[in-house]
Amino acid sequence: MARTYNVVTYGCQMNVHDSERISGLLEQAGYVRAVPTDDTPDIVVFNTCAVRENADNRLYGNLGRLRPVKDKHPGMQIAVGGCLAQKDRGDIVRKAPWVDVVFGTHNIGALPVLLERARHNAAAEVEILESLDVFPSTLPTRRESTYAGWVSISVGCNNTCTFCIVPALRGKEKDRRPGDILSEVRALVDEGVLEVTLLGQNVNSYGVAFGDAGEPNWKRSGGRSAFAELLRACGDIDGLERVRFTSPHPKDFTDDVIAAMAETPNVCHSLHMPLQSGSDDVLRAMRRSYRSDRYLGIIEKVRAAMPDAAITTDIIVGFPGETEADFQRTLDVVRQSRFSSAFTFQYSKRPGTPAATMDGQLPKPVVQERYERLVACVEEISWAENKRLVGETVEVLVAVGEGRKDERTGRMSGRARDGRLVHFATESAEGQSLAGQIRPGDIVHTTITYAAPHHLNADGALVAHRRTRAGDAAEAGRSPRTPGVLLGLPTIGAPPVAPAPTAGCATH
Ligand code: SF4
Repeated sequence: MARTYNVVTYGCQMNVHDSERISGLLEQAGYVRAVPTDDTPDIVVFNTCAVRENADNRLYGNLGRLRPVKDKHPGMQIAVGGCLAQKDRGDIVRKAPWVDVVFGTHNIGALPVLLERARHNAAAEVEILESLDVFPSTLPTRRESTYAGWVSISVGCNNTCTFCIVPALRGKEKDRRPGDILSEVRALVDEGVLEVTLLGQNVNSYGVAFGDAGEPNWKRSGGRSAFAELLRACGDIDGLERVRFTSPHPKDFTDDVIAAMAETPNVCHSLHMPLQSGSDDVLRAMRRSYRSDRYLGIIEKVRAAMPDAAITTDIIVGFPGETEADFQRTLDVVRQSRFSSAFTFQYSKRPGTPAATMDGQLPKPVVQERYERLVACVEEISWAENKRLVGETVEVLVAVGEGRKDERTGRMSGRARDGRLVHFATESAEGQSLAGQIRPGDIVHTTITYAAPHHLNADGALVAHRRTRAGDAAEAGRSPRTPGVLLGLPTIGAPPVAPAPTAGCATH
């Protein structure tokens, strides 16, 4: 019988996508995914995150709980990868000697070999590389969704934000060739995928390093327009209905990206642009080299070009040295930006980052109190922004796992083009339920009847329902296998709900 595996993922979208690669690699090596009720898979892989302060407690707690299970199941193997593994390396097997393999962020592809070697030698294998050997997108990938896929355009980051551990653990930015990116996008679309999210720590610096070595028609401005050109090239791919990207950086954001978003019909009018703080002094201390007026200037241009754009952000409150006046500046920028939602974080020390040893660390009650005021301000604005959509008809890509209460309410859920979460009733104009006919990956049009701060409801009759190839695939439960060469192809299955972002990582 084939050996089974389970991958446990912590952290950001990068990690979720890396876990798709880990799954693809293991399946190429002959393992099969354990069913959810299987408590004793043959391989358990922890894909870790080092961003949260208590990430290591969580990992070692989980490893401790697994130890007696492993003792009772000879042959079971445990592997630890991701950012915490890159950081703690051999310490992991010193603290938890029952771990079989430790691998880093730069050598995901080595996992099957390391598992094999650990089994053969009956000893732990720890292998951490200092830089990337193979661009991770060349690894086989077991996609979790039939309708939406992530495509990495770069890994690593050249910035040095003082709260962020990413540059230390993911290395300097490495960009992928545009032709490889577009081939992967086409391969996904050929499998029925409708939506692609281009993924990089700083998508706006994509291609700058190519300079004159870029694609022939992308050479203007020495590669600085490469990301805009990439968006426009995605616009030429038949069958690709939605293009998103994460994350841009205000420092590098250029007008040509706004023009490409506005002029390329399949690029969604949604922008997630991290603010982090509205205070220029705090931005300086964070070593983020834009200032609040630049940030607001970008938002103004985005709204001028795309009045329907939904803009979301990340904000850290309580950074060392933040004064009440600094915090008020953040509230000012939030009010002016009118975010449709914001991920808000209380600053907490991340070992290994410059900010962790800065003077002026704030007492928890001060951070908590500011955080609560920030959340109230953000919610008031996002609620008001959402209410403007009541009465509007929106296009929704039907999703899996987005509506916790769907079973009870009889609704289905999905994302509008601008990224907003919509829970919708499934009755046709004739009053018949279409619930059995609408599949994840299908497209519906529906009219918003109610707005909450974090979601919209559409409780009237559906305006339209379009069956798609992604929906066909989901209904058939087909599981196309990954070929194990260059490109990852999608497979069928419930997509994971993306974990909440963590400041200073993919959300920067
Ligand atoms: S927060 Fe983002 S831009 Fe800053 S160093 Fe981290 S990954 Fe790079």
